[in-house]
Amino acid sequence: MSISTLRQQLLSGEITPASILERLSGEIAARDPRTGAYLSRDLESALAEAANADLSLPLGGIPIAIKDNINVLGQPCTCGSKFLAENYTSPYDATVIRKLRAAGAIPFGRMNQDEFAMGSSTENSALQTTRNPHDPERIPGGSSGGSAAAVADLTAIAALGSDTGGSIRQPASHCGVVGLKPSYGRVSRYGLVAFASSLDQIGPLTRSVGDAALILQAIAGFDPADSTCLDAPVPDYLSGLNDGVKGLKLGVPKEYFGKGIDPGVRNNVEAAIQKLAAKGAEIVEISLPHTEHAVATYYVIAPAEASSNLSRFDGIRYGHRAANPANILDLYKKSREEGFGPEVKRRIILGTYVLSSGYYDAYYGRAQKVRTLIRRDFENAFQQVDAIVSPVAPTPARKIGAFADDPLHEYLSDIFTLSANLAGIPGISVPCGVTDFDGGKSLPTGLQILGPHLGEAKLLQIARAAEG
Ligand code: GLN
Repeated sequence: MSISTLRQQLLSGEITPASILERLSGEIAARDPRTGAYLSRDLESALAEAANADLSLPLGGIPIAIKDNINVLGQPCTCGSKFLAENYTSPYDATVIRKLRAAGAIPFGRMNQDEFAMGSSTENSALQTTRNPHDPERIPGGSSGGSAAAVADLTAIAALGSDTGGSIRQPASHCGVVGLKPSYGRVSRYGLVAFASSLDQIGPLTRSVGDAALILQAIAGFDPADSTCLDAPVPDYLSGLNDGVKGLKLGVPKEYFGKGIDPGVRNNVEAAIQKLAAKGAEIVEISLPHTEHAVATYYVIAPAEASSNLSRFDGIRYGHRAANPANILDLYKKSREEGFGPEVKRRIILGTYVLSSGYYDAYYGRAQKVRTLIRRDFENAFQQVDAIVSPVAPTPARKIGAFADDPLHEYLSDIFTLSANLAGIPGISVPCGVTDFDGGKSLPTGLQILGPHLGEAKLLQIARAAEG
């Protein structure tokens, strides 16, 4: 059921916050052993919160599942890493959690992810495998794979994820749910364990566009604890939701329909665009000429920032500490060697390299310049169109293990989602049908809608028309 249906039933007394949690626990016990979306959950403390839930609030009594890189007071926050799995407990609530609680919601359940959010499959979790509910042999996408899989598997009502280069939108697309990455600065990052601070944003994964709007409404807004969080008024994301697309101009970037895109994905995305045209949108071809450089740019900037952010994991302040070190340097080295998985090490090495003296200008400095060009591509496009429509990922969810020895292939599959983070603009993934892939089961595909900075209200309005 959608959040608004549950809210009606709560208000009429048909159900209670506790009965929702108990029902969810039953669904989790029945299906999550197969799906593997949950890393942990604390039913007892959630029930204690449910007993005091204020039903007059917009999300009163609604449990929300939380990606395991967002701090919730007193709970584990593993980031999918062995480093933090042993002995780390959050000493505070992230701002988004504080805001969810202030809107009456109950954080319930910690969702699997790629280690420190590095990946697109959730296979980089050091803790467990998460499977796509549509086909257990396939990835749920990532890095917010646990959040997306649980919402699709009906073991969560809605979830929070984080998106640095697609980690909300791509798993949403692969699992057939809605995923929204807000504009950079729209939602506070305070309490989100940082991967790449100039790219990270927290956002909702839900079963409907309306639910995504409700959650964005609760978590958006200024926070003095995050210096990059914008002091801009938060509009009403719900009132214009059903205004349709009549008269809106939607741009189709020609660079997003080139080689490498699966024909089933292309057909479904084109059909979704035709549907929006039939509802009165004007469709125009546009160009985002620097798209071909997005993957290279992102995979310099994101690892550079990660190598700096992850230096805090030193075996002293947080999590894993190696036994019997010879000296302090040995303690750092051993703790990091033992605590981090292979993809995280690859990113740290890559990031340290592009920042090192002699290479800084050639790689990091240059990537920053190309980032500006990518941002300008979007600024120019939004002079002509209200929003941009495209695929989310070039293929449906692939088989688990298929890219095990080929990280570059994995990086290339992020081509349609990375640019929104580099430009700081909002993006939403909304389901657009299913396709047969490799002769296998029907797998979901997603339509991506990108809008100008702080343009979430219109994105949600277009997504609502695409979903209906
Ligand atoms: N797949 C991208 C990466 O591996 C994006 C991950 C994310 O958005 N957190 O970096």
